[in-house]
Amino acid sequence: MNQESFNPFSMAQLQFDHVADILDLDKAVRDLLRNPMREYAFNIPVRMDDGSVNIFRGFRVQHNDARGPCKGGIRFHPLETMDTVRALSMWMTWKCAVVDIPLGGGKGGVIADPHNLSAREQEQLCRGWVRQLARNIGPISDIPAPDVMTSAQHMLWMLDEYEAIHGGKMPGFITGKPVGMGGSLGRTEATGFGVIYTVREALKQLSIRPEDTVASVQGFGNVAQYAIRLYTQIGGTVICVSCWNQNDQTSYSFRKKEGIDLDALLDITDRFGEIDKAKAKELGYEILPGEAWIEQEVDIPLPAALENQISAETVVNINPRVRAIVEAANGPTTPDADKVIAERNIFLIPDFLANAGGVTCSYFEQVQSNMNYYWEKDEVLGKLDVKMTSAFIAVSELAQKRNLHMRDAAYVIAVGRVAQACRDRGWV
Ligand code: NAD
Repeated sequence: MNQESFNPFSMAQLQFDHVADILDLDKAVRDLLRNPMREYAFNIPVRMDDGSVNIFRGFRVQHNDARGPCKGGIRFHPLETMDTVRALSMWMTWKCAVVDIPLGGGKGGVIADPHNLSAREQEQLCRGWVRQLARNIGPISDIPAPDVMTSAQHMLWMLDEYEAIHGGKMPGFITGKPVGMGGSLGRTEATGFGVIYTVREALKQLSIRPEDTVASVQGFGNVAQYAIRLYTQIGGTVICVSCWNQNDQTSYSFRKKEGIDLDALLDITDRFGEIDKAKAKELGYEILPGEAWIEQEVDIPLPAALENQISAETVVNINPRVRAIVEAANGPTTPDADKVIAERNIFLIPDFLANAGGVTCSYFEQVQSNMNYYWEKDEVLGKLDVKMTSAFIAVSELAQKRNLHMRDAAYVIAVGRVAQACRDRGWV
């Protein structure tokens, strides 16, 4: 995988151009939606524990807010770029629209590796990020959330800084907060569970029983862990997972052909989703190269790590047994690989549909925070299931009716809704 030549924003724009043609959008709508409405890039000085000052680069992109305030996570990642944030903000717009929640798309990031930062330094980074943006984001304009390598604790520091600047309590400013501090029950599970609600519906449609299926998962973080939890509860078996190894600066796959034991693996996994290699070996896992997850003889490969993982080079390694690819991560498949998947007639649940459970629950959290009234977990997960299931059914019905690939069908619904909102507001 050539990360250097891969540009997620070009990929997001290519996907948009394709659907704009299908929808026959006029030039003004295309120009409006092809690029973000607003972008912020800024420096965040942080006094480090040794007394020196490090300058971190931060970003926030607001792609479109025609359907409601922008919503989207903040990543801390050493390879973060403005183009990654742009792409993710655009995908957030489509994601909120496909599940029909009244929010637009935004995304944020910082070029930073929290592995190398103390808790105090991370707190300063969070507070610094908010200080740079305090007048450009907020509960009625743009609501951040966690993403890769950011947590509930980071969100609480950010909320605290925002409230200190503006005065008063505004828990609706940010989501992904700790439960008991304005967080929603079910938020931790939401993305992974949401992925599996769509898998359950897809398998029904393909007339396959979940208990007859086997999956391989890339990544072992928040999304992967809860997706595996629910998938195994509905009867599926996961035989391989992979993760990044910080020490070796490479990824590894962990395979157990009779099925992984989620709880035993969680006991030897750190908060970044890194499985301890030596301990996994003791537990009887085969340690394979990082790319091995995609080559496994499974029904469902489930990428749940980062972008650009199923590319022209790796798509050829997908096993002939595969029936459905489930994009739990954002942007895991490149347009070239997408064509191959369509040609091979593999059912695909596209990222912005599959992983929309996170933002849907974030929306529930925001509603609860604004009301200052919190729901029981079953109520949250029940509402989540309803939203995800109806979104999946709408996309798959359109795909069948118009003979579209699932990604195109999801795009037609999402982009169509956003374009209509822009027209209704008189913007175009
Ligand atoms: P996370 O930080 O909790 O976990 C990421 C996992 O991916 C870790 O196990 C890490 O080791 C692994 N990883 C990183 N690079 C890898 C590589 N090159 N090969 C194999 N494994 C690798 O992140 P997460 O919250 O689980 O998010 C995963 C994906 O899902 C991202 O694309 C994210 O944008 C997307 N997503 C997350 C949410 C959410 O609510 N957390 C919502 C929607 C989409």
